[in-house]
Amino acid sequence: MDDSRETISGQMTEKKVIGIRRLKEPMPTPLKTRVFTVANQKGGVGKTTTAVNIAAALAMGGLKVLVIDLDPQGNACTALGIDRNELPGMYEVLVNDLPFSEVVTKVSGFPHLECAPADISLAGAEINMVSFVSREGRLKLALDKFLAQREASGARIDYVLIDCPPSLGLLTVNALTAAQEVLVPIQCEYYSLEGLTLLLQTLTQVQKMLNQTVHISTIVLTMFDSRTRLANDVANSVRQHFPNELIDIPIPRAVRVSEAPSFNQTVMTYDAASPGAVAYMGVAREIALRGSREPGNNNLNNGANSA
Ligand code: ADP
Ligand code: MG
Repeated sequence: MDDSRETISGQMTEKKVIGIRRLKEPMPTPLKTRVFTVANQKGGVGKTTTAVNIAAALAMGGLKVLVIDLDPQGNACTALGIDRNELPGMYEVLVNDLPFSEVVTKVSGFPHLECAPADISLAGAEINMVSFVSREGRLKLALDKFLAQREASGARIDYVLIDCPPSLGLLTVNALTAAQEVLVPIQCEYYSLEGLTLLLQTLTQVQKMLNQTVHISTIVLTMFDSRTRLANDVANSVRQHFPNELIDIPIPRAVRVSEAPSFNQTVMTYDAASPGAVAYMGVAREIALRGSREPGNNNLNNGANSA
């Protein structure tokens, strides 16, 4: 009707309606599965919020999406409404070699959104993996196998988003080893860029030793308050350093975004018309559009949007 955004925005006001959530205008599928690590070693900058909401938005755009919760706090599971207590999760995958297919669970209310859950037991994984050979590559090994199985069965996953803990330890190194792309959420406050230096150092090490392909492809400004000079200064500085990586749709600081997890929802379902949800939808669409372009070519690869 109005625009392409929500087909069921009327129902959304009830906030509990679980139905098939799709956009009228689908998002383009990528050439191959894109694996993103959502990383920033600072806590509370919006990693989990960004991972689950972009995942939800991509799934609403018709894409097949997997969220891997790699934080023992399990916040991504909470936001996606997954009860972790009953399920094996990423600890069992990383430490006990349980196949991904046995931990991946469907996220209710979305046709194509799945999650590999985590709980507090994952906190022990870093220690328990220490004696393993190639301990940095455990996630990649398991994930690649799963993605290949899915592709062979005709149900290719388009996007994987790995939600990292707030550290640069072995879990985050596993995530960086398994991914091609890094998405860095940056909260516009003092020292947010200083924190990036450490992440870049770790990334350089991973590139040298473990995974040449991985690079920062996407930066998202989170909890942005355009009224403050500081937020605008940080945004300008990020734009200067990362002109190609920065997505020019900042996520506003918004109450709905922070409320959604307490209802075991993403803001995309909790209040799809709210400013935070609209911003995350815009960011997801931009990510999907960028990923559908041939390298060095601005034409869309996939016809979904360009017919
Ligand atoms: P991280 O995963 O980096 O630790 P979170 O995504 O958990 O960060 O976010 C930290 C806190 O900030 C959470 O309470 C979350 O609900 C809140 N938050 C995140 N993004 C926003 C936003 N755009 N507006 C308001 N609150 C937000
Ligand atoms: Mg988190």
